[in-house]
Amino acid sequence: MKHVYNFSPGPAALPKEVIQQAADEMTNWRGTGLSVMEMSHRGREFTEILATTKRDLRTLMSIPDNYKILLMQGGAIAENAIVPMNLVGKKPQPATIDFVHTGHWSEKSIEEAHKYAKVNVAASSEDKNFSYVPARDTWKLTPDAAYVHICTNETIGGVEFDFTPDVGDVPLVADMSSSILSREIDVSKFAVIYAGAQKNIGPAGLTIVIVREDLLGHALPICPSAFDWKLVADHDSMFNTPPTYPIYIAGLVFQHVLRQGGVAAMEKINIKKAALAYDYLDSTDFYINRVPAANRSRMNVPFFLKDESLNQKFVAEAEQHGLVQLKGHSSVGGMRASIYNAMPIEGVQALIAFMQEFEKKYA
Ligand SMILES: *Cc1c(COP(=O)(O)O)cnc(C)c1O
Repeated sequence: MKHVYNFSPGPAALPKEVIQQAADEMTNWRGTGLSVMEMSHRGREFTEILATTKRDLRTLMSIPDNYKILLMQGGAIAENAIVPMNLVGKKPQPATIDFVHTGHWSEKSIEEAHKYAKVNVAASSEDKNFSYVPARDTWKLTPDAAYVHICTNETIGGVEFDFTPDVGDVPLVADMSSSILSREIDVSKFAVIYAGAQKNIGPAGLTIVIVREDLLGHALPICPSAFDWKLVADHDSMFNTPPTYPIYIAGLVFQHVLRQGGVAAMEKINIKKAALAYDYLDSTDFYINRVPAANRSRMNVPFFLKDESLNQKFVAEAEQHGLVQLKGHSSVGGMRASIYNAMPIEGVQALIAFMQEFEKKYA
């Protein structure tokens, strides 16, 4: 079989070893004669899978004991509604939410929040086409906001926070869909972290929510019970049937990351991978990336060909080299190489080798 490196932004590549283990266990999980897909979520086997998966995530991210891990559904886009429905109720209504607008995904969060609260855009990088993260000292925060929302990595723009903002006593909420487990973070600096699984964790269908316990129990009356974090936490993520198979795969990914040395080890490799990609982009005029160095995403590397009429050729020839899913998001065009945890450094090297060859051929 031809070797393929998958640069998909999401659902994204999973570690080869994990896919192989899942294949080996697909029809008969550890001698039970059952596929994980067929197991009762309340049975002994799945209960063990769930507990191990949560424990391993807690270890990987050093999640303090006063935080709950919720395994939910609906993705980050559903959380754009679920977060306000769970958090604004603590304040007199209508409450205000502060947002930092850094691109496509924070914009989605802002749009949805209008249904539940007053929205204040405390900072925005719109002046430069969302190509950077506004410095913390420029943010105009609301003193009594229900929370401050950031998207730590803008998956489409390729813009990533290089700092964790201090917002005082106001809860800090982060959409970490495309950067979770890619770098070390101090969970205690956040009130809520949420992430769809399909970038760095597992298959689509699972949403991770990490929430500080004191924030539970204030859901608005209109909040669907299945999305009330307190109910989900009280039922150990089994208020309704959780996405059992994605949870099982996420568990395999967590064990894989642990075996490789945890998040710190992933971060080291991710820094190397990103440096390779950006150093190369900076060395040529044939390809362009305009994000300032400090805010360049380690996970998503968008770039443009100077001669955009070559775009189709680039994608087609890359595919012939086993380098797939490089086309940029339709809203920005160009190319994007997503190099999440599961992308080995050899994949980035292969991409650069191809790009050099392509440049020679068409420059
Ligand atoms: C992919 C992505 C989303 C979209 O998540 P869904 O799972 O489709 O709801 C939201 N935010 C970020 C940062 C993403 O990368």
